[in-house]
Amino acid sequence: MAARLRASLPSGHLFPSASTDSPSDGPFAGFSGKPLGASNICRSPLKMEGTRNARLRILGSIERKPTFKTEASEEPVGLNRQLTEYEKQRLEGKDCGLDLFEELKFRFRRFKKRNYMENLVHYRNLSQQQTPKFMVIACADSRVCPSDVLGFQPGEAFTVRNVANLVPPFQHGASETSAALEFAVNSLEVPNILVIGHSRCGGIQALMRMKEGSDSRSFIKDWVSIGKNARLSTEAAAGSLSFDMQCRHCEKESINGSLLNLLTYPWIEKRVSEGALSLHGGYYDFVNCTFEKWTLVYREGLEGGSKYDINDRSLWS
Ligand SMILES: [Zn+2]
Repeated sequence: MAARLRASLPSGHLFPSASTDSPSDGPFAGFSGKPLGASNICRSPLKMEGTRNARLRILGSIERKPTFKTEASEEPVGLNRQLTEYEKQRLEGKDCGLDLFEELKFRFRRFKKRNYMENLVHYRNLSQQQTPKFMVIACADSRVCPSDVLGFQPGEAFTVRNVANLVPPFQHGASETSAALEFAVNSLEVPNILVIGHSRCGGIQALMRMKEGSDSRSFIKDWVSIGKNARLSTEAAAGSLSFDMQCRHCEKESINGSLLNLLTYPWIEKRVSEGALSLHGGYYDFVNCTFEKWTLVYREGLEGGSKYDINDRSLWS
């Protein structure tokens, strides 16, 4: 079905060439993408007070002064002391020799104190059930965490991450992604599925380097071959461009391929056609820090071509 839909869409219909022309390098082009070392992890990510405060504001209706006690509420005094001592060490520059898991322990306790403890009613409700508004499919790349980039809070997004944020077609059979989709759509009845791609995706680079007919003895190659149609359409539309630009094109084309693959799941197509489920694409460019968002729309009774079109395209910068 996806092949039929794809074939019925005009070339470049889902992916305007203007996006391909965007520069791939910008003010942060020197970003190496290397993992943080022990000292780096101590210095940079913890200065996020503004982000944390913004997150708490997003929670909206959450009651800030709970009138009940839980197990968690019985230890704030000791927790406060531990956090204070650790923060003091950090300010004195003694932190960088600490074990990475000490850092994680600090972060967990900070989350517990400043987020969980201050929003006990919300977290008590979450312990009983989840009603996320989004199913998110994103890449496993450490630089593109949807909760960081889009500020998803606990309970807001049922998320699966895989190499190159690919959705296999229904005929592919069982995978962690199809299992997550089944639960999110049929049990949680999420109203939105958002597939998020990103710049400089190693999985897409692997896909674009694949040679036709090559003998694949790699889990990565086997997996990314799901996006073969995106590679072929990229080569047809942007084959004369540099490898980097082709990858940029394919990063977006594969998102649309995944949106079409979602429609091969009968229970997804049914809910989309009924208007109970919306499918969205997103593209996070971490070089220039922009986010593109678009929506696949169902057009009942559309004469000729695909029943689906792209709408509500916007660029957040
Ligand atoms: Zn990726």
